Amino acid sequence: MGAVLEKENVTGASDWAARAVERQRRYFESGETRSYAFRIAQLKKLKDAVVRYQGEIQDALKADIGRPPFEAYIEISTAIEDLKHTIKHLKGWMKPRKVSTSMWAQPGRSRIESTPQGVTFLLGPYNYPFLLLVQPLIGAIAAGNTAVLKPSSLNPTVADVVEKMMRECFADDYVSVFKGSTDVTNALLEQRFDHIFFTGSPRVGRIIMAAAAKHLTKVTLELGGKSPTIVHKDANLKVAARRILAGKMLNVGQTCVAPDHIHVHQDIRDAFEQQMIATIKEFYGDDPSKSPDLGRMINDRHFQRVAGLIDKAKVLVGGQTDAGQRYIAPTLLKDVSMDDAVMQEEIFGPVLPMLTYASMEELIGNLKKLPEYPLALYLFTASEAVEKQVLANTQFGGGCINNTVMQVANPNLPFGGVGESGMGAYHGRNSFDVFSHQRSILKATTLFDIKFRYAPYKDKVNLM
Ligand code: NAD
Repeated sequence: MGAVLEKENVTGASDWAARAVERQRRYFESGETRSYAFRIAQLKKLKDAVVRYQGEIQDALKADIGRPPFEAYIEISTAIEDLKHTIKHLKGWMKPRKVSTSMWAQPGRSRIESTPQGVTFLLGPYNYPFLLLVQPLIGAIAAGNTAVLKPSSLNPTVADVVEKMMRECFADDYVSVFKGSTDVTNALLEQRFDHIFFTGSPRVGRIIMAAAAKHLTKVTLELGGKSPTIVHKDANLKVAARRILAGKMLNVGQTCVAPDHIHVHQDIRDAFEQQMIATIKEFYGDDPSKSPDLGRMINDRHFQRVAGLIDKAKVLVGGQTDAGQRYIAPTLLKDVSMDDAVMQEEIFGPVLPMLTYASMEELIGNLKKLPEYPLALYLFTASEAVEKQVLANTQFGGGCINNTVMQVANPNLPFGGVGESGMGAYHGRNSFDVFSHQRSILKATTLFDIKFRYAPYKDKVNLM
C-alpha cells in the first residue's frame, strides 16, 4: 500500500482536497471496508436510500434536465436493479478463483484473489447525473474501496440530492461528495487516487488521463462517439423505426449510446423514411414541443451547438427550435454525406442524419470513414450473413442486432468503449472486477522439492 499523505505535504488551495483523500486513505488502511459483511451492509444501505429518495431524485432530474418522470424512473430503477444484482452475487464474486499450475511453477497451487484497490475517484457526466455516479459507486463499494464523488456542475439540484443522500448513508472518510466547478475537479485530480473512473467526453477524458499519469493511477474512461445504426433492406422497418427512435429520443438524444446517424439501404429508403415520420407522430403527436415525453437540452451552449448542426436544406421532418425552452424537435436529415458537418462530431441531441448505401462495400467503406471507434453500433437485418460481415469489419464498444441502447440494460454484458470511446468496462460482475485488483498467488509446498530448475544447469538443456 502507498504512503499516507503527510500533513506537511498538504499545501495551497488544494489543502481540503489533500485532506479529504488522506482521510479516506486512512480509513481504507484501517481494513474496515474489506469484509463481505461490511460491503453488503453498505450496498443494502445504499439501495434503501435510493428507494427512499426516488421522489426527490425524480424532481431533481426534472429541474436540471427536464427529464420526463418515466425516464427518471428508468434511471432510478436501473440503479436499484444493479444494487439487487450486486447484493445477490457479491459473495460468489469475492471467492478466490482456483486455476491450474504449470510445470515450472510446481510444486504448488494457484489462485486469483480480487482485492480492493483503495481510494477511488468517480466523476459523473450531466446526462444521467444520478445513475452514472451511483453505478460506478456500486462497483467501488462491492470491491471494498472508498470513494470520492464529483457530480457534474451542470446538474446542481441532482448534486444536492446525491450529497444529502450520501451524507445520510456514509461517513465522509468512506464516501464523500464534492460539488462545484472545474477548480474543484482539478484540486482533486492533483491527489493520488488508486482508481479514477470517469464518464464524459473524450476531450475531458484526455485531461483526466493526463492527471492520472502523474501518479500512474489506473483509469476507466467511459466516453462517447458517433454510434452508427444500419437499416438493411431486409429489416422489419416498423420495428426498426420504433426501436431507433426510442433509443435516440431518450433524454432527447443526450445519451452516450444513442444512435448518432443512420445508414439505410437505398432500396428501402423511401419506405423507411415514411415509417420514421409516422413513428415520430405516433410517439410525440403532431406538435412534439407539447409532448410531456420529450426533455430539453441541458443548457444554451449545447442547444446552440446541436441547433447549428441542422442543415435546413436537408430536413425531412422536424427542424423546429425554441431557444427560450432549449427545445429542439425530433429532426431527421436526409441525403446526408460523410463530409457534412453533422458527421464530424458526436451529435448528442435529437438530430438524426440519414445516409444511404447501395452495397455492403459502400456501407463498410463509410463506417470505416468514421473519425474514431464508436461506443455502440446497431444493425437492423434478418440476415446472419449481413450481421457477420458488418461485425467482422467494424470495431466498437458494444451494440445490438435489431435493437438500440438495450445492451446497457443487461448486467451480464460488459459496458465500455474502445479507442476514443473509452477504456475499461463495467456493469454487474464487470463493475466488481474493474474496481478490484486481480492478485495472483502461487502457494508452494515445502514438503518436497523439484531440483530441476536450480543450478548447475549443465546438461539439463539436452534433456528438453
Ligand atoms: P464532459 O466531458 O463535458 O463532463 C464530464 C465531467 O467532467 C463533468 O463532471 C464535468 O464537470 C467535468 N469536466 C468538464 N470539463 C472539465 C475539465 N476541463 N477538467 C476537469 N473536469 C471537467 O461530458 P458531459 O458533457 O457531461 O457528457 C457528455 C459526454 O459524455 C458525451 O461525449 C457522452 O457520449 C459521454 N458519456 C459517456 C457515457 C458512457 O457511459 N460511456 C455516459 C454518458 C455520457
